[in-house]
Formats: sequence, C-alpha cells, structure tokens
Amino acid sequence: MGELFVVVNAGSSSIKFALHEAVAPFAATRRGLIEGIGTAPHLRLRDAAGATLMERNWPVEGFDHARAIAEAMALEAELLDGATLLGAGHRVVHGGLHFAGPVRVTEAVLEELQALSPLAPLHQPHNLAPIRAIAALAPELPQIACFDTAFHRSQPPIAQEFALPRRMSEAGIRRYGFHGLSYEYIASCLPRLGLAGARVIVAHLGNGASLCAMRDGRSVASTMGFTAADGLMMGTRCGALDPGVLIHLMDTEGMDARALEALIYKESGLLGVSGLSSDMRTLRASSEPHAAEAVALFVYRIQREIGSLVAALGGLDALIFTAGIGENDAATRAEVAAGCAWLGLTLDPALNAAGRGRVSAEASPVSAFVVPTDEEGMIARHMAGMLG
Ligand code: ADP
Repeated sequence: MGELFVVVNAGSSSIKFALHEAVAPFAATRRGLIEGIGTAPHLRLRDAAGATLMERNWPVEGFDHARAIAEAMALEAELLDGATLLGAGHRVVHGGLHFAGPVRVTEAVLEELQALSPLAPLHQPHNLAPIRAIAALAPELPQIACFDTAFHRSQPPIAQEFALPRRMSEAGIRRYGFHGLSYEYIASCLPRLGLAGARVIVAHLGNGASLCAMRDGRSVASTMGFTAADGLMMGTRCGALDPGVLIHLMDTEGMDARALEALIYKESGLLGVSGLSSDMRTLRASSEPHAAEAVALFVYRIQREIGSLVAALGGLDALIFTAGIGENDAATRAEVAAGCAWLGLTLDPALNAAGRGRVSAEASPVSAFVVPTDEEGMIARHMAGMLG
C-alpha cells in the first residue's frame, strides 16, 4: 500500500517511468523503460534492486509515442496495486528564462512550455506529450514539471550571454545550460562531502556530457549553451564547434538545417571520430587506433573546458564525476585528472579504481569525488516539496 509518485522522463525514442515512495528518501520501487520507438519497441520493467521483472516487444508498425505513453500508463496503473498515486513528475528539458524551479502544471503553464518548443525541438514536444496524456486521463492528478535549465538560472547574467546583437539576446538566444536536475542532485550532496561553500566543478559524463561550475552549491557557469549540443564532445554530439564550419558545409556541401542537425547531434562525437561506436565501453575494449583517438579527444576537451570553468570560478576546490562514464570509467577519470595536475589534483589509484566517494589522494590540495547522480530522485524530492 502506501503513497507513490510517478516520475516520467520521455525522450525522442524512449520513455522512462518510475514509481517512487512519497516519503524520504523517495526510493524507486519500480522502474520501466520503453525504448526503440520507431525501430524496435521494447519494454523492460525492473524492481528496486534492478532485477528484471518483465520484458515485452511490440511490432514497430503503429507503435508511436502516443502508444508508448498509453502502454506506460496502463502498466503504472497495474503496478500501483492498491497504493495511492499522489502525483506525476516530469523531466522537461526547457524552462526558458522564466522557470527557475519546478512548477505545478496548469493549462496556462503548458501553453508557456509549448511556446518554448522551438528552443528544444528534439526534446520539448516529447517531454510535454505525457503531461497532456495524463491530464486527459486523470485531470485531478497533480502534475509537476521539473526543468533541466532551471538550476542554471542562478548564473550571473554575463555567463548567460552570447556576443550577438542585443535584439537576439532579448529574443531568448542565450546560454541556458542543461543537465540541471543532475547538477541539483549533486549540489544537494555537497554539504555531506564537506563542500558546502566550495568552488566545485561537476562533470556529468554520460551519452550527453557537460560540466557545471558551482559555488556555494549554485551554478555559476556551464559548458552547455543555447542547446545541449554545446561544450564537451559527447556520444554522438560534437560539442563546441567553430560556427564557421557550419557555414562552410552549407556553402560547399549544400547542407541544410536538418542535415547540420543530424551531423552535430547524431553523427559526431565518440561515434563520428571513432567510426565505431558512441559507447565508451566499446571504445575502451577496442584496439582500433580511431577508437583510442576518439577517447583521447573526449578527455582533452574535458581538460580544456575544466580550465575555462576554473577561470569562471577563480580557482578550484573539488572535481566531482557523475553519470555513466563519470561513475563507471576509472580510466577516463584518471586521464582527466592527469591533465589537472597543474591545478593541484592527484587521484589515489586504489580509491579511483573503487570508484565511490573520495577518489583523490589524501594530500591532494584539490579533491575529487565520484557521486552517482539521481535525476528521477530529484524530481520525486521536488514533488514532495510542492505537494507536501
Ligand atoms: P545517458 O546520457 O543516456 O543517461 P548514461 O549516463 O547512462 O547516458 O551514460 C552512458 C555512457 O556511460 C556510455 O558511453 C557507456 O559506455 C558509459 N558506461 C556505462 N558503464 C560503463 C563502464 N562500466 N565503463 C565505462 N563506461 C561505461
């Protein structure tokens, strides 16, 4: 029995949904993932310990996002098993300039979020679709939207600006920053690491990758900008790119907006440079020189951007690794840290191999930690705050 929240994270080809207990520490009791929408739709349902409870495949024809949402909602209803659902929380990529925290969704809010879709056309419409579907099915159920941009609204105005004509900044073309729910969760862990007032860089290294500079647990700068394509090299995204390259490709290869979008979001990064895979595990296991070169470039770009964020912070007290690569790949951590020796960072090889908590050497003036992120848990926490 008991009271539960459902947390929904809907992307372009997948929907993640989880049931969380509505009391601290908001543990997930069930996690579902429907992926392969448009290619090979597949569901996997796991229990709290991560063991698979159920798997299901569907034929690709006719299995669109709406169907995936309907399947997820039917399954959620089944999983409740007598418990009370108190609300639905959603990860929404873009909250624009207006939303600096989570918000209770109303029709007016939904319209505002819909109006932000041109700023994140690949994600925002997919994030909003389940909100509409749930509102239609259960109009009384409170829904909360939590934004990937909100945590970065604390940045000084100058950190959010491009050097473009003023009218463009005023039209909303500025740096928003992303991965905010992950960073907010890590920020909440800083006091227990003794880093409450510290100058910290958090490296969120997953398929998407970015860095966030924090002081006093608040974002002061980030590597992602107007879109989630900026900054670090990623699984399939190139990260920061001389804008002149795009103009050159338009002129010489006749590439249009859609072709450039596919290039910078889907065909570049670890995949594009290695010609092999976007997956760090595959690249680490490969003996291909291009795989090694892709990993070396990934690490080099992180080192360069750390330098930039150290300048924004005026120094560094700690570096924190999180997300798939940051939490699991000791080699990437060691290689990144080797380029930070000038900052006074030395890892402890045994602690780094163990890969949880502090991984820096005892005498290292700058410390380093591995902290697993929990974006869904952060959403559940926000829900408790708003509905409690
Ligand atoms: P997403 O951004 O899709 O949430 P994740 O945070 O799950 O991505 O990160 C996915 C990345 O983490 C992949 O490149 C994957 O290879 C990498 N990864 C996961 N586990 C390991 C591991 N044990 N060693 C090295 N890399 C890993």
